[in-house]
Amino acid sequence: MAVPQNKVTRSRRNMRRAHDGLVADNPAECPNCGELKRPHHVCGACGHYADREVVAQADEIDLDEDAA
Ligand SMILES: [Zn+2]
Repeated sequence: MAVPQNKVTRSRRNMRRAHDGLVADNPAECPNCGELKRPHHVCGACGHYADREVVAQADEIDLDEDAA
């Protein structure tokens, strides 16, 4: 079984973990509805991306129409 050759000191362990922290998102404003959204992602509020609708909202879909 592989065994570490040297003890990793608290100092060295903590220096390695200095870069492990989670980074907060940098939200951008949706150009269509003004809601904050993740950059380079479809807006979760209105389904728009790059000034056009790419995801239909649930309240706009008529389920009975698809069944016919
Ligand atoms: Zn939006």
